[in-house]
Amino acid sequence: MSSHRRGTSIIATVGPAVEDPARLDRLVAAGASVLRVNLSHGDRDSHDAWIDRIRDAEARAGHAIGILADLPGPKLRLTGLSGGPRHLEVGESITLGDTEGIGDLHVTIPGLLASLAPGHRVLIDDGLVRLLVETVSKDHAVCRVMTSGAVSQGKGVNLPDSNPPLQVPTDGDMEKAIWAQSRDIDFLGQSFVGTADELRTLRAVLPGHETDPLIIAKIERPIAVNNLESIMQEADAVMVARGDLGVEMEIATVPVVQQQILQLARHLGRPCIVATQMLQSMIESASPTRAEAGDVATAIRDGADAVMLSGETSIGNWPDLAVSTMARIAEVTESHMDQETDFPEDKGVDPAVAALCEATWSTVVRLGALGVLCRSRRGIWAARLSRARLGVPIIAVTDSPTAARRMALLRDVFPVVLDAMPAAVDAAPCCGLDDATLQAMLRVPSSCILIEVGSGSGDASHPALHLAVRTIGR
Ligand code: PGA
Ligand code: MN
Repeated sequence: MSSHRRGTSIIATVGPAVEDPARLDRLVAAGASVLRVNLSHGDRDSHDAWIDRIRDAEARAGHAIGILADLPGPKLRLTGLSGGPRHLEVGESITLGDTEGIGDLHVTIPGLLASLAPGHRVLIDDGLVRLLVETVSKDHAVCRVMTSGAVSQGKGVNLPDSNPPLQVPTDGDMEKAIWAQSRDIDFLGQSFVGTADELRTLRAVLPGHETDPLIIAKIERPIAVNNLESIMQEADAVMVARGDLGVEMEIATVPVVQQQILQLARHLGRPCIVATQMLQSMIESASPTRAEAGDVATAIRDGADAVMLSGETSIGNWPDLAVSTMARIAEVTESHMDQETDFPEDKGVDPAVAALCEATWSTVVRLGALGVLCRSRRGIWAARLSRARLGVPIIAVTDSPTAARRMALLRDVFPVVLDAMPAAVDAAPCCGLDDATLQAMLRVPSSCILIEVGSGSGDASHPALHLAVRTIGR
């Protein structure tokens, strides 16, 4: 019997809970292959220190780790409370201004008051405290407290009914993006995207090299759900950012929207991440709730490439246990999934590549192969094969550490970095990797069939694509 090798990637957000190198090593050893630095917190020095810590941990681990630098976007925040937190009681009347000094609370964005209208909701701190706008005048809005609670300086504010003018990316995002690019990070998350144009604006500030970070569109506003297809076309990957999405939209719609995003992402060949509160109770507790275990399993069954942890690993009491728990849920869930019965239609790629992917898929299914080996210098082949959900591990050989880090996001893909790209498929079987190495990577104890794909010998004008059936371990 072979033991299943987990194919779903795990993204773990770093923070104080894993600042110590030994703790960071345990997080990686537990199975986190992409680490997220949330640029909403800390300053440039602290962000630099995180990149250094992660690259050190990567060197100690000896395998590729992707870094996701997450741009805050125009998150609205409360000001006017520098004197300390304030408790708001149900029924109390509160005035909200768009400039410091006017009203009890402020949200300092231009155009705030023009976009508010009576009946609009003002949600503070992920919706824990709720206000309802009653009247709007030239310099303030009068709101009634609907749900009580304490509010403090800097807490997040969501205005789900108002659609205030938001600049995405913000000036701060663009500056952070340039820094992130200079630190060779792998993925750049853009929060609060509303349109594909905003992603083009972000892309335009990057130099335009092959090594530019991949851009992840965080879907967390209703407008982004409306513009989903055009945003995805422009993005390299997407995230179902359920934290803000669950405040901006009615909570009951979030599971359906998640499923729609996963479906479309798969159709368009964009890797998709499901994020936020996946194992939330593990911030405090050493085991998740049954509902949380079910949530992780659902995301995986619905086709997520990666599942993400936030507070669980950045500030929680059990960071590496949260990762190993998630890994175990993924492993069990995947091992009970049936192999897909259809090859997903693959438009927009070279027809020869699409044909070889389809051939790989059907060969794996018909021969009961237990693994695929592909040469994928830049990760493009690996991404196409990952999307086909072959149901077996894909070993992707590259000579580029950067490509390997980016492949760390892809479902079922296990990058291997060699010093030089091996010769063509027909000249160097299995990229020169020996059977024992391949068996260990695929977790197969006895012999099995491996399908090898990639370019063969041939000149630039007649590149040959190859598919080879190999038996290993015999
Ligand atoms: P955040 O994004 O943690 O940066 O807010 C994720 C989300 O909103 O779910
Ligand atoms: Mn968010």
